[in-house]
Amino acid sequence: MKEKFDYKKSLGQNFLFDKNLLNAIARDGLVEKNDTILEIGAGAGTLTEILAQNAKKVISFEIDKSLFERLNLFAHNYPNIEFYFNDFMQADIEKLHLENARVVANIPYYITTPIIFKLIAHINKFKSILVLIQKEVAYRFASQCGTKEYGITSVILQSIFDVKITRIVAKENFTPPPKIDSALCLLVPHNKYKINDFNAFKELIHKSFAMRRKTLVNNLVKATYDKTEILSALNQLNYPATIRPEQISVEDFIKLYNLLKK
Ligand code: SAM
Repeated sequence: MKEKFDYKKSLGQNFLFDKNLLNAIARDGLVEKNDTILEIGAGAGTLTEILAQNAKKVISFEIDKSLFERLNLFAHNYPNIEFYFNDFMQADIEKLHLENARVVANIPYYITTPIIFKLIAHINKFKSILVLIQKEVAYRFASQCGTKEYGITSVILQSIFDVKITRIVAKENFTPPPKIDSALCLLVPHNKYKINDFNAFKELIHKSFAMRRKTLVNNLVKATYDKTEILSALNQLNYPATIRPEQISVEDFIKLYNLLKK
């Protein structure tokens, strides 16, 4: 049932009411009966309710206190929902009971990247993360080496996760409809690579893509890496000195990081 809400654009409030879509989100999020689910942004509680029907426990954050009354009614009907009326970005994830949990959330788009990186900082707590995000951002997360969307976030996320777009959600599904379509993006940790210092790896990727039209060598030399060492590393990876960052696969970026690290 669609009700009237005082939608706050500044909080990224675009709500979902279609039960078929909400059930599809729970399925795409791999929700199982014994799971604990973390939701960021309960909104009207429509997804929270579906999650509570399909999982053992739902921990849900909502920053907008005007939704408190409505959401507390849900909490009465579903004792397996735990609401936190706080800013998720300030939350101490270590204090929540999240072992082997999953994230399933239609997140506020204005903080997509901070939310993802906050979750990454506690990745040992999560089996999977399904987020509904802007379509273009999802394409960047999932894009492969050599495509125009492939860049910093593609490499960083794919160094940790298998990334898959499970479905496109047209803007008309939201109330109010945003300007662009969205996509559900599933991130499943793969443990393929051992990265000792993730911050140093992230820094290398940021510097590698500093200027997309430049060669990798030029970008890294500008960032004070030693040119001879870069050329030697590229040679070992069978890349020419003229290679551009978007032509280097995630796996090879990990190898490059290992070759260049002091
Ligand atoms: N889950 C609901 C749905 O699917 O209809 C609402 C999704 S809406 C895109 C995002 C929700 O996140 C809004 O209700 C908004 O108030 C809330 N929100 C925004 N910033 C937040 C933050 N920093 N911490 C917690 N919730 C936040």
